[in-house]
Amino acid sequence: MDQLKFVVEASEAESITHKLGLPSVHHLLPVLVQPAQTLARPPISNYHVAAVGLGSDGRVFLGVNLEFPGLPLHHSVHAEQFLITNLAVHRCPRLVAFAVSAAPCGHCRQFLQELRNPSDLQIHITSQHQNNPNVTFEPLREILPNPFGPFDLLDDETPLLLERHNNGLILSYEINHDGDLCNGFSDDDLKSGNLSNGFYKLTETESTLLRIAALEGANDSHAPYSGCPSGVAIMDYEGKIYRGSYVESAAYNPSLGPVQAALVAFVAEGGGGYERIVAAALVEKEGAKVRQEDTARIFLKLVSPKCDLKVFHCCVAENGCKKD
Ligand SMILES: [Zn+2]
Repeated sequence: MDQLKFVVEASEAESITHKLGLPSVHHLLPVLVQPAQTLARPPISNYHVAAVGLGSDGRVFLGVNLEFPGLPLHHSVHAEQFLITNLAVHRCPRLVAFAVSAAPCGHCRQFLQELRNPSDLQIHITSQHQNNPNVTFEPLREILPNPFGPFDLLDDETPLLLERHNNGLILSYEINHDGDLCNGFSDDDLKSGNLSNGFYKLTETESTLLRIAALEGANDSHAPYSGCPSGVAIMDYEGKIYRGSYVESAAYNPSLGPVQAALVAFVAEGGGGYERIVAAALVEKEGAKVRQEDTARIFLKLVSPKCDLKVFHCCVAENGCKKD
């Protein structure tokens, strides 16, 4: 098998399945778990977790755990969270099944509740089937009976994780543009790309693309409980941009921050070492009850000290950008 990728196209997944003589792509998922574990980044625990999932469009997605030395453990990204975020970044609308190296922790079983009909999600735990040649999956309801989730708090119309979100957000200064931007940047700052801390000089185009990508992340954000969506875009020194959306959990604590989501995109798209990240933009509502800015600054300072974060405020266009 060639170098394993975080997204395997449907035709390629079929082809590998055929080459290995497996009866279906479902059977391929557990086969890929062990090689996927080598892609995990757990410098604290050295415990490598991988989750390999099948999307409804036939693509196969990988997820691995990420840990960040110098930060509290709750900043870690679990393999299942990585997997779901990987589907979201690549706009796959549904996760059908996944194989995972160890039993999903309680935090992940809860996080998975944000999907539509999560009880039916099929799971195979490879560590529990090592001597069993038959690949069997069990539904999530078997390992999380009596769940609490979005169905307890939201109406049926509210989009869930992986479903199309359009939060209708625009950048605040786009409607109030008088040359004095709400974040303190002037028109000249924006035009000169003077949005970096001096380690890396952003061009005007890069600066614009970064802001737009962060706004897209905020527009895709799943934040139905707080009403405080946010998005982060990060850029490597080659100018490649990676976008992430904040994801809330009905149980709050398993929520995934927008910087983590952007780092998932960075890792999944072959971004390499975090030190390659030189610039980032966060978009969130001004004065939001759930605010990412301070945490995002601390997080990025530890993960990539040379990365400069700029924050832009957004508002709901439909509301005429009144405070909501
Ligand atoms: Zn977990």
